[in-house]
Amino acid sequence: MNEQIKTNEKDHLIFGGIDTIDLAKKYGTPLYVYDVNRIRANARSFVNQFEKLGVKAQVAYASKAFSSVAMLQVAKQEGLSLDVVSQGELYTALKADFPVGKIHLHGNNKSHAELKMAIENKIGCIVIDNFHEIELLDQLLNESNQKMDVLIRVTPGIEAHTHDYILTGNEDSKFGFDINSGQAEEAFKRLLKSDQIQLKGLHCHIGSQIFETEGFVLAVKRLFKLMNDWKINDQFDPAVLNVGGGFGIRYTDEDQPLPLEDYVTALVEEIKAQANAYQMEFPEIWIEPGRAIVGNAGITLYEVGSKKEIPNVRNYISVDGGMTDNIRPALYDAKYEAVIANKVTAPKTYEGSIAGKCCESGDMLIWDLRLPEVVAGDILAVFSTGAYGYSMASHYNRFAKPAVVFVEDGKDKLVVERETYQDVSRYDLSYEQWRN
Ligand SMILES: *Cc1c(COP(=O)(O)O)cnc(C)c1O
Repeated sequence: MNEQIKTNEKDHLIFGGIDTIDLAKKYGTPLYVYDVNRIRANARSFVNQFEKLGVKAQVAYASKAFSSVAMLQVAKQEGLSLDVVSQGELYTALKADFPVGKIHLHGNNKSHAELKMAIENKIGCIVIDNFHEIELLDQLLNESNQKMDVLIRVTPGIEAHTHDYILTGNEDSKFGFDINSGQAEEAFKRLLKSDQIQLKGLHCHIGSQIFETEGFVLAVKRLFKLMNDWKINDQFDPAVLNVGGGFGIRYTDEDQPLPLEDYVTALVEEIKAQANAYQMEFPEIWIEPGRAIVGNAGITLYEVGSKKEIPNVRNYISVDGGMTDNIRPALYDAKYEAVIANKVTAPKTYEGSIAGKCCESGDMLIWDLRLPEVVAGDILAVFSTGAYGYSMASHYNRFAKPAVVFVEDGKDKLVVERETYQDVSRYDLSYEQWRN
């Protein structure tokens, strides 16, 4: 069972020090709730470990995991840098008054408008993904007579998965420049030719929900080999090595995450060893955790409604949300744990599968969950929904997106308001408007 579960004398789930049943009553359901102290603790696990090891680093929060103004302000308070992958995410960062010099722009198809917005706002770094982007960026920088720091994103041919990694040789991925086919080399040469683009170093991102350090170590080895070639042939000395994100978190008992500090230690040790072996300067290390910052800091509260019991088959328990607020189970078979938040420790005598209320058979949140007897009106709390929940929420079936509440130091308050149906239909124009 989840090591974080706390209850009060009413057997209600306590989250971030607050009774979740009170939260459900006060703000309605479905509801995303974040424990801000846990966000801060996760961020500090990375930041403090780099400090402890005396290494210059940037810990960039991958804001796609959960982007909102208040969230980015917490990231800023914790001294994090920020990854954005779109104009919308950049706009949110600017709205949060995030220090522009610490914003990095990602994306495999950055538009003219996105690059222009990044240049105009003088963000810290653009992570170059493809040849088309180099031409666009060079042209835009020439027009505005500005310079821009960039990293080059390469695919080292290592795919890290949950419990193993695969050496793929040539990587079959839409992101970045392939090393083995020589694309990375060609892009590198092209970048060196630009007067406006300032190449600071290399970037790679080998996967998500990674529970071992080996994949990162292999990637560092591969990148140093490449950097050594570039150093010998072109006197290139990288100032930055960005090894991406993907640090795994616990969703269920199947997941055994490492302490976040261990990834930092393994990375620093390998980078030191490689820098020594190749007699290169020790680069600044950048990492990009998304899920590891917010994933276990968030839960979702739902109200239980209807039940369908099929004898000798399965019990379906429907809640008032589903794939519109958490697409991950339907999209990639993600697993979650949950409890009935108003009777957390009651004996689990019943088994039921948690269904969403969308018109899709695939709209299931959790299969075959052990529960106490469940009745309509019970509150279900699903754990570890802080990453890629709200950020992937949709309006399917014209659902309004749920509210987001932050709890910290005994205080609970909205940071994203619940959408209304006026919001959902705000951009609809009538047939008469079309006709006239
Ligand atoms: C998605 C992504 C991340 C964050 O991944 P997590 O699994 O949430 O840590 C970091 N860097 C890049 C380039 C990404 O695409």
